Amino acid sequence: MVEDCFPELCEKLDQLPLNVSDVLSDKAKILVVDDDKISRKLLAGLLRPDYFVLLAESGQEAIEMIHDCPPDLIILDIMMPEMSGFQLIRKLKTGNATQSIPVVFITALNSIRTEEEGLRLGAVDYITKPFMPSIVEARIGNIMTMVRQRKLLETLAHIDGLTEIPNRRYFDQALSREWQRSMRYNSPLSVAMADVDFFKQYNDNHGHSAGDRVLRILARELRTNLKRPYDLAARYGGEEFGIVLPNTSSEKAALFCESIRAAVENLCIEHGHSPAAGNVTISIGGATLIPAQNMELYTLLELADRQLYRAKGEGRNKVCWLN
Ligand code: GH3
Ligand code: MG
Ligand code: MG
Repeated sequence: MVEDCFPELCEKLDQLPLNVSDVLSDKAKILVVDDDKISRKLLAGLLRPDYFVLLAESGQEAIEMIHDCPPDLIILDIMMPEMSGFQLIRKLKTGNATQSIPVVFITALNSIRTEEEGLRLGAVDYITKPFMPSIVEARIGNIMTMVRQRKLLETLAHIDGLTEIPNRRYFDQALSREWQRSMRYNSPLSVAMADVDFFKQYNDNHGHSAGDRVLRILARELRTNLKRPYDLAARYGGEEFGIVLPNTSSEKAALFCESIRAAVENLCIEHGHSPAAGNVTISIGGATLIPAQNMELYTLLELADRQLYRAKGEGRNKVCWLN
C-alpha cells in the first residue's frame, strides 16, 4: 500500500484544509471521483492551490455532490466498485443539468480500446496512471481555460448589451426554472412587468441616446433594489422590464414593486413632457400564482401584463396587482 510506503506524505495530505475562502471565492470547482484514497489525495494536493476541489469516493457519492454543487470539471476514475466511471459518465451525459460538465478520465486502464471508449462516451481527455503531476496540471489548466471561455460566452449571451442586466432569454429560462421549483415546493411565484411611462415622448424630446441613458439608470435602480439573490430583474424588451420574485406572496410582491416605483420617481429624472408627472416614472403590473400541473407558465405572464395595462389605464406611475 502506498500509505505504508509514504506515511508522512499521506499524513500531510490528510491535513489539506478545505478553505472557506476557497468555497466563497469564484475559484473553479473540480470534482475528483476515485475509489483510491491515495489518488484522490494526490490530485487534491496538486489542484487545490488553483481550484476548489471536491472529493468523492464512489459514483453514487459523486452524483449527490454534483446535484448539490455542480462542478466545472469532473476528474473520473474508471475502475470503481458498484458504479464504474463509464457508467457514471453515461448517466451524466443523459441529464440536462449535467451533460455539459466536462469529464477527464484518469485511470490505470491504459489500453487503446478503453481510451477510445472513454473519449467516445464524451470525455474531453484521458490520462493514464501513474501520471506525471506537471502534465496533469498543464492538461487540466488548458481544459479549465476553455471552460472559463465557454462560461464567459454563456454569460454574455444572457446579458442585455445596453443595460448590462439579464436579457429576455435569461428571464425566460429563469422564470421557467422558478415555475418548476415553485410547483415542487408548492410556493407562490410572483412576476411583474414594469414599463416606462410616455417614453416615446422622452425620446422625441431628449433624443435617443438620452433615452438609452435613462434605461441604463432604471436597470441599475432595479438591480440595486432586489434584496434576495434569487430575485431577478431583466430587460424584457424595449423600455419594458420583467421582475421575478420566487417564494413571495402577492402582498409582499406588490409592496416591493411599489417601493421600486417610488424609487424610480425619486430619481427625479426630468421628463417635462410626461402627462403622468414631471419626472420619468414607471407603471408596474404583477400577478402571483402557486403553479400547478394544469397551469401554463404564459398564463402568469399574461396576468401580469393585463395588470400593467390596467396601471397604464388608471393614469400610469402606478402598481396594479392581481388579487
Ligand atoms: P406608455 O406610457 O403607454 O408606455 O407610452 P410609451 O411612449 O412609453 O410607449 P410606446 O410603446 O408608445 O413607446 C415606447 C418607446 O420606447 C418607443 C421607443 O422608441 C422607446 N424605446 C424602446 N426601446 C428603446 C431603447 O432601447 N432605447 C431608447 N432610447 N428608447 C427605446
Ligand atoms: Mg412605455
Ligand atoms: Mg412598452
